Amino acid sequence: QQYSEIELVQPHRYFGAVATPIFGEGGEGVLLTLHDLTRIRQVDTTRRQFVSNVSHELRSPIASIQAMTETLEGGALNEPVAAREFVGRIHAEIKRMSNIVDELLQLSRLESGEVSLESKPFDLNGLLKEIELEFRTSAQSKNIGITSMLFEALPEVYGEREKIRQVLVNLVDNALKFTEKDGSLQLSSIYADGNVRVEVSDTGIGIAKEDQDHIFERFYRVDSSRKFPGTGLGLSIAKHIVQAHGGDIGVSSTEGEGSRFHFFIPIPDKFN
Ligand code: ADP
Repeated sequence: QQYSEIELVQPHRYFGAVATPIFGEGGEGVLLTLHDLTRIRQVDTTRRQFVSNVSHELRSPIASIQAMTETLEGGALNEPVAAREFVGRIHAEIKRMSNIVDELLQLSRLESGEVSLESKPFDLNGLLKEIELEFRTSAQSKNIGITSMLFEALPEVYGEREKIRQVLVNLVDNALKFTEKDGSLQLSSIYADGNVRVEVSDTGIGIAKEDQDHIFERFYRVDSSRKFPGTGLGLSIAKHIVQAHGGDIGVSSTEGEGSRFHFFIPIPDKFN
């Protein structure tokens, strides 16, 4: 018996091939069995990329903390102003790492299907108003106006309010982060075809077509936005949450003009 692996280039697939000689009365031959290993290989690659991304994301805060503690040890401790500044920056880096770890844990729980939603009917418009209020101050500091256009007869949504809140916080937080001063942001809700649909649109830097498909992947960040704080995990968590509610999330955007994120959640019949 012989085993060998075969890689096809176009379409890209992997096979494991087992050749077994057979001897019978009528003569002899070979039994060839092919196993399609493509999916297993893909999972493997994704896992490897994931580990390499996590290490990379954690390395930069660790390196800064190391450099700053060395500077402190090397004498900066005796200069109160500098020391205070370094300690503040160390604190910020630790917070960044802790965010990454929290988000990773949450993502892994969501991906393993371990968490079940604590679903109850809730008022989504009420939640949207709450979010608007919560972000008003930070929006004002960049002179960004937030408006909302809420569908009056919106049916109650059946789901976990806290999780949907997290999706909205992520979308609005991104919208503010990626919109320059004097821009604007709009929240809207609508009910159509058995779905509640929410949109968060901004007049910010926008997202190039080739990046739009990828931003919901974990750790994906558009190069130009690496100067902003972030982990690239927020949107993949948001996508998981929305899908756990039976809906989906998407974006349409024009570079330099703005982005419009939208998600929908189906409303079960008994709530219509
Ligand atoms: P993070 O914000 O932590 O970097 P996300 O997963 O929330 O991670 O977003 C992934 C990437 O998508 C961001 O880094 C940014 O490049 C892009 N992005 C998300 N929202 C917007 C937006 N409103 N405008 C422009 N780019 C955005």
